[in-house]
Amino acid sequence: MKYVSTRGQAPELGFEDVLLTGLARDGGLYVPAEIPQLSADEIRSFHDMPYEEVALRVMKPFVCPEISESDFADIIAKAYSTFRHKDIAPLVQLDKNQWILELFHGPTLAFKDVALQLLGHLFDHVLTKQGRKVTIVGATSGDTGSAAIECVRGRDCAEIFMLHPKGLVSDVQRKQMTTVMSANVHNIAVDGNFDDCQAMVKALFNDLAFRDEITLSAVNSINWARVMAQIVYYFTSAVALGAPDKQVSYSVPTGNFGDIYAGYMAQQMGLPIKQLIVATNRNDILTRVLTTGDYAIGEVSPTISPSMDIQVSSNFERLLYNLYDGNGSEVRRLMANLSQSHIFTIDGPELVKAQQIFDAVQVSEQDTEATIKAIFEQTGMLIDPHTAVGVKAASLKNTDTATPMVTLSTAHPAKFPEAVAKVTGQHPALPAHMADLFDRVEKYDRLDHDLDALKSYIRENL
Ligand SMILES: *Cc1c(COP(=O)(O)O)cnc(C)c1O
Repeated sequence: MKYVSTRGQAPELGFEDVLLTGLARDGGLYVPAEIPQLSADEIRSFHDMPYEEVALRVMKPFVCPEISESDFADIIAKAYSTFRHKDIAPLVQLDKNQWILELFHGPTLAFKDVALQLLGHLFDHVLTKQGRKVTIVGATSGDTGSAAIECVRGRDCAEIFMLHPKGLVSDVQRKQMTTVMSANVHNIAVDGNFDDCQAMVKALFNDLAFRDEITLSAVNSINWARVMAQIVYYFTSAVALGAPDKQVSYSVPTGNFGDIYAGYMAQQMGLPIKQLIVATNRNDILTRVLTTGDYAIGEVSPTISPSMDIQVSSNFERLLYNLYDGNGSEVRRLMANLSQSHIFTIDGPELVKAQQIFDAVQVSEQDTEATIKAIFEQTGMLIDPHTAVGVKAASLKNTDTATPMVTLSTAHPAKFPEAVAKVTGQHPALPAHMADLFDRVEKYDRLDHDLDALKSYIRENL
């Protein structure tokens, strides 16, 4: 498979280089040059297959033969051996036609493990083969950080620097990152919000000299391999609910547009997805762009679903590429508008197309809390606030109650215990492997929101 940049001015790359590069050199994101198609028969054959086997079949066109099929099968097996549930991503029924897809059974209790556990082993494989080492720099609104650290801790092939907005991630999220004592792990608390952190990381990538100096690499959701890994659970869940002979709908709590974009890819590959609902909290840039066409950056406002508290939704650029039929100069024009005036507008046929693919809705804090409470009262289940945003969005936007509706459950409730306890009176317990989290020692440094300070810090610590 060849990969091209959404902005059309970076060299085409193969899978291994796309994996290691992250952001393209023209500032764009890598996307596959063509979308592989799975036949209805092949999709039907996924029924009752183990998750790992479906993963191999869905991802192989993106990866093999650059990585051999047998090596890739080993990588997948290792990646998912750390999950606590044998189904990896189990479906749980809420009521007649409503389901939750639990994506939080990995080591750090959020769905990001599904992609990042795979990425860690892919990095290891490719870098060992090439005899190279990389420096990973990332920004996190909470969950990416711990999942990324967990994917490379203790490995020789990578040094990781993780930026989080100081005071704006939950205690559980911070401790999951800062209590990892491996020498190759560097946590940095930045004075600023998540978008500031993400902008610093993007600026590092755009500094080509520095980028080459430290062999910079990314595990943010701008990395194609992450989107790719997330396509898999749309297939496993839809097939469990009757696909390809029945349609299935999804509601996806969304921030950086990575998880929902993976759903769109699954649909493009042949999975009969009826509705794809973009569920946002009050940081609703995605709901606004999909309803009005204006992608206008506003102020970030903290919510009880902090992993979605962002206003710059990086993976949306991948959708632009699809909406404009792969026209890199159109994507460049829009992204230039964005960096000059903090807004771009899609209209005409592209907006219509986007609205045919996605429904979108903003869920208020009150509705999020009420949903956590209602689900607990109706089913006895505790759901986390991100999942609750998805469940509420599903009920607001569902156009056909005869089609199964799956909400992606992106975090374990114990990751956000205060929000859950406040409305249910129940304090969700951490799983056994993390029960002593609050007794572990933390280690991290603080930096100003300043690019030069970050560069010096990285140089000093390499
Ligand atoms: C990262 C995250 C999201 C948002 O995922 P995107 O791929 O950025 O849309 C939602 N919920 C939780 C718990 C997360 O960690």
